[in-house]
Amino acid sequence: MEISPKTVLTAIIGNPVEHSLSPTLHNAVYKTEDIDAVMLAFGSPDIGGLVAAIRTLPIQLAAVTMPHKQTIMPLLDEIDVTAKDIGAVNTVVNRKGVLTGYNTDVTGVAKALAGVTLKGANVLLIGAGGAARTVAYHATREGAHVFCHNRKLAEAEALRASFDINIIGADALQATDFDVIVNATPIGMSPNTDAMPVPEEIIRKGAAVFDLVYSPLETKLLRAARARGARAISGLTMFLAQGLEQERLWLGRDVADKDYIALLEGKLRG
Ligand code: NAP
Repeated sequence: MEISPKTVLTAIIGNPVEHSLSPTLHNAVYKTEDIDAVMLAFGSPDIGGLVAAIRTLPIQLAAVTMPHKQTIMPLLDEIDVTAKDIGAVNTVVNRKGVLTGYNTDVTGVAKALAGVTLKGANVLLIGAGGAARTVAYHATREGAHVFCHNRKLAEAEALRASFDINIIGADALQATDFDVIVNATPIGMSPNTDAMPVPEEIIRKGAAVFDLVYSPLETKLLRAARARGARAISGLTMFLAQGLEQERLWLGRDVADKDYIALLEGKLRG
């Protein structure tokens, strides 16, 4: 659709945002659904300035990424209860000047883990940052036993203060049978594609391994999972689901998945 004075602005805000896939996904949705909108990326460390821009321009839908998912919360008018419970916002919908924060990462996590039994499962959660919070929220609600393994113990303890989880050190990893392993750190992300968040020996046959990292498309962790007879789940599944949920919240209707995964994979392959 041709850009005109009527074209609505949506945005991805964060710092940095140069490599974000959000404009690719959302602009493809606008084209497919014939929506007169365009998503642009705005990178800034100044979250106050970004929120002022949402109000002024106005930006009707904003996807929020690192490092603003928590710091944006006090600047909004309303926070959805799930986002409040998780403690992070990745979506802002601007309804006639009222900014409401949501968390659609949790929809993405739920979609990625949809075929995995979480009730009673031992889940190894690597990381204790914003994304790990979302995984801890979902997995504990589904009845999993979550073991958090994080570089900084204090961050793991902060996660344990919010959710009913255990903390596990490197020395105890081999002794526990994990049904599900989730990497919620950037370990293994391009250009450090040779890095592994945990030793591959702890991946057992039949387990499910979900890597939130999606660049490269197949991380070393997911390669190891496949080689060891485990199920490998890509972070791209989560990315797509959280993005379509952002559009659903804004548009107030479901947005069909028109094979956007192929588009995103193509973009990542370059
Ligand atoms: P975050 O809040 O900054 O947390 C980063 C986590 O990774 C922390 O637990 C940190 O440990 C750990 N970490 C970072 N570098 C590390 C290193 N070199 N060695 C060991 N641990 C390290 O980030 P986030 O928002 O949770 O994002 C985490 C990852 O998930 C990112 O790669 C992000 O791209 C990905 N993600 C993917 C999706 C998706 O849709 N697929 C959505 C959201 C996030 P410390 O506490 O010890 O610093």
